[in-house]
Amino acid sequence: MKSKHQLAIASLMTVGALMMTAQPIAAATSSSTPIAPWRYDKKTTTYRDKSTSPYYKDVWRQATKNWQKQGFKWQSTKNSSKTTLTSYADKSAKGVVYIGMKQTTYTASGRIIKNKVMLNRASFQKFKYNKAERVKVAEHELGHALGLAHNQRGSVSVMNPANRSYAIKKVDVKGMQRRYQTPYKTVTNDTVYVANSSLKANPYLEIQTVFGHDHDCETASQFTLTPF
Ligand SMILES: [Zn+2]
Repeated sequence: MKSKHQLAIASLMTVGALMMTAQPIAAATSSSTPIAPWRYDKKTTTYRDKSTSPYYKDVWRQATKNWQKQGFKWQSTKNSSKTTLTSYADKSAKGVVYIGMKQTTYTASGRIIKNKVMLNRASFQKFKYNKAERVKVAEHELGHALGLAHNQRGSVSVMNPANRSYAIKKVDVKGMQRRYQTPYKTVTNDTVYVANSSLKANPYLEIQTVFGHDHDCETASQFTLTPF
């Protein structure tokens, strides 16, 4: 039977080994942000901003402009559009954990029928996001809307699944270019799907920064594919 001392050393070694293996995986960034199964026809599309406050209109204006600088042109319209941007306030215990949401309706070939992109004002307030961080969440959701999936956990990417602090990076631009170089699929049955993604609030930014942003916090985003 092992002594207490031996057991303590054994468990310390296990912890050490876990930490060593966890680090490089968590710190990885895919060189090209992965793509989602949908896209617009071109790297130019319209959106209708349904925000009522000048503050959130400005958040969307900045986020769309930042994508535009990287080659994806979002054009504001007052007419109807496939894409609507808005904000809401859900401070319920269940709702406040989600800071951004997006719902994409698309066909099996990959054509976007409808995109609804939303920010949760109550969550921003509760977790004290400043305006620049709110713009980054908006850029993340717009990234999903235009056809990007998540980069890896801990990645330096606007599509980090817990993004609060990263702007659109080169890896994201590469992913966007690849998305628009990848044509629609040829399918026999163009089923319609709905994909929801939700970004959870990231209240642990300071802690993450101290540890080099390589620990995942309780944030995740999900895609659910539901034929209807
Ligand atoms: Zn996401």
